[in-house]
Amino acid sequence: MTSSSKHPDARSLLVLETHELSRRAGTMKEVHRTVPAPAGLGVEMIGVPEGSEIAVSVKLESVVEGIWVSGTAEVELTGECARCLRPLADEATLEMQELFYHPGRDAEEDASFVVDERIDLEPLLRDAVVLELPFTPVCRDDCAGLCVACGANLNDDPDHTHDEQIDPRWAALRDVTQN
Ligand SMILES: [Zn+2]
Ligand SMILES: [Zn+2]
Repeated sequence: MTSSSKHPDARSLLVLETHELSRRAGTMKEVHRTVPAPAGLGVEMIGVPEGSEIAVSVKLESVVEGIWVSGTAEVELTGECARCLRPLADEATLEMQELFYHPGRDAEEDASFVVDERIDLEPLLRDAVVLELPFTPVCRDDCAGLCVACGANLNDDPDHTHDEQIDPRWAALRDVTQN
């Protein structure tokens, strides 16, 4: 989804230099670096907090058409449980793979290109986030969610019911006898 005409921002830590790879197919280099997360990296209910550390580990390989990039980004995640709305924190390893074509190569309209002898990983990261983060994240697989009648958190109160109106004093007594 990288625009072929967009010049990568050389100051961005997600922009990698490719000049030492040359155009000889077969050369490669590895890049390992920690970068601060750009803003807006996430989906509706979960995302990577802006400025949090992302551990990027990628391999750049010179191939005939351009530069093949593959690797991972380890990210912190914060969000909300889609069932009970509690805040949740997690980690994820996002996979990234992309062929960056040399300038002038025939490629599809939405292909990525090497521009100014640089490649920009940020669009890859954004695509990986959309592909790999759950649209309905849960705090745990068996999260019981909220009571549809009153919004009580059913994880805290698994016996919650509206079939009988329980006098709060009896409810308190019942808790005591269960302990
Ligand atoms: Zn939950
Ligand atoms: Zn309820």
